[in-house]
Amino acid sequence: MDQVNKDQYLIEKNGKQYEVVIGLEVHAQVLSDSKLFSSSATKFGSEPNTQVSLVDAAFPGMLPVINEFCVKQAVKTGIGLNAKINKKSIFDRKNYFYADLPQGYQISQYKDPIVGEGSVVLDLPSGPKTIGIERLHLEQDAGKSIHDIDPSSTLVDLNRSGVALMEIVSKPDLRSPEEVNLYIKKLRSIMRYLGTCDGNMQEGSLRADVNVSVRKVGSDKFGTRCEIKNVNSIKFMQMAIEYEANRQVELIEEGGSIDQETRLFDTKKNQTRSMRSKEDAHDYRYFPDPDLLPLEFDDKFIETIKKEIPELPDQKKIRFIEKFKLSPYEATILVSDLETSKFFEKVIEKSDVKLSANWITGELFALLNEKNLEISQSPISSENLSKLINLISDGTISGKIAKTIFEIMSKEDKDPSIIVEEKGLKQESDPKALETLIQKVLSSNEDKVKQYKSGKDKLFGFFVGQVMKESKGKGNPQLINKILKEKLNG
Ligand code: ADP
Ligand code: MG
Repeated sequence: MDQVNKDQYLIEKNGKQYEVVIGLEVHAQVLSDSKLFSSSATKFGSEPNTQVSLVDAAFPGMLPVINEFCVKQAVKTGIGLNAKINKKSIFDRKNYFYADLPQGYQISQYKDPIVGEGSVVLDLPSGPKTIGIERLHLEQDAGKSIHDIDPSSTLVDLNRSGVALMEIVSKPDLRSPEEVNLYIKKLRSIMRYLGTCDGNMQEGSLRADVNVSVRKVGSDKFGTRCEIKNVNSIKFMQMAIEYEANRQVELIEEGGSIDQETRLFDTKKNQTRSMRSKEDAHDYRYFPDPDLLPLEFDDKFIETIKKEIPELPDQKKIRFIEKFKLSPYEATILVSDLETSKFFEKVIEKSDVKLSANWITGELFALLNEKNLEISQSPISSENLSKLINLISDGTISGKIAKTIFEIMSKEDKDPSIIVEEKGLKQESDPKALETLIQKVLSSNEDKVKQYKSGKDKLFGFFVGQVMKESKGKGNPQLINKILKEKLNG
């Protein structure tokens, strides 16, 4: 049983090929200072049970009051997903019992969500692919059960109880772990641009239920899906999908069939395991919450929000390609993170676009990666990077020396022209001075000069290297090439 094609992700067993079908239910915490139906704070990492109002703790008689800001955030996200905004939506009670759910039900939306069908475009290596969005609805988060503080009991922290979530449900359009990776990143990018969710997966503000089924290649009927609950990292989603898809193929090939069920991903064993058979909607006894009126707004409300929508990654990418002549690849990576795109635009205010793109996606990304930093924490400011690039453009330093200076700047964010002065790194572009060095190299390598002249062209690189060495790396490479050619061929 092997995965035979990374691009397509097929699983082969007994000479038959299967493809995997994936749909995600992403839970995105709404970026908002207060909760969906109460005014309690939502700050992550606060002392347990310090952000809990009587509504969040479900004291009898307490009534939920809708937070208009959260509604706007959901509408904004819907617009960012090219989706239909429903002017009337309904809050329902989804009934189940669990220690971290004090109400005994979750206020959610079922048949009439706030946002309907939309789409997200993925930038696959083979070209764009559109993933359908089924719906986006608003709901409350539950509290958190803590099992590892007290050995004999479970503690409950209600700080998260009542925090607004957007559940974004995709159509079953995803076909590989890599597409899931790109889909999550694109969703997160869009929401960060919009300021509607911080997308911080470590803090749990973005997590997903992953639905997986398999079918024989060529079949147009979907197989039975399993749903893997609450996966909170892209890596784990991918591992869970790989494991689950292979498990299903194996089972089918053994003559068995897939039970629709809810499974858990065990991150220690890298396996999914059954949690319960899939509950149907009727198990939740959904009904409209009698404490809340239908949520209604008019076109004007939507229009006002539309005006607040910033340029989103897809549009920015087109602008970067058209205006700055970037390659689609460069544009994709420069727009994927809002802060990166801002940094880039800052640098190119004063510097060459192509060089800037190269330096940011090359050296700077490598540095940030190595130090595990966000671009907002970059040890090198956009101003100083721009100055460094200008020193290359105007011939003051070579690209090679620039890397040395970059290295110094990564430890101390300093004006690069000062570093050039202090360390004497200015490029040697004086033809007279270079000629002297070249003469020296040629005289001490007379035999090689002879070989070159009798046809051993490859030696040219050797001479360039020697002259560079003589100049301590500071010789202007173009000039060295030019003068050497004249000397050797003339
Ligand atoms: P539920 O609440 O029962 O999980 P939802 O409609 O909220 O139902 O979500 C269903 C999810 O499962 C969607 O993301 C959808 O794309 C996905 N899905 C549906 N059918 C399949 C299938 N055969 N294989 C994989 N995913 C599927
Ligand atoms: Mg589900």
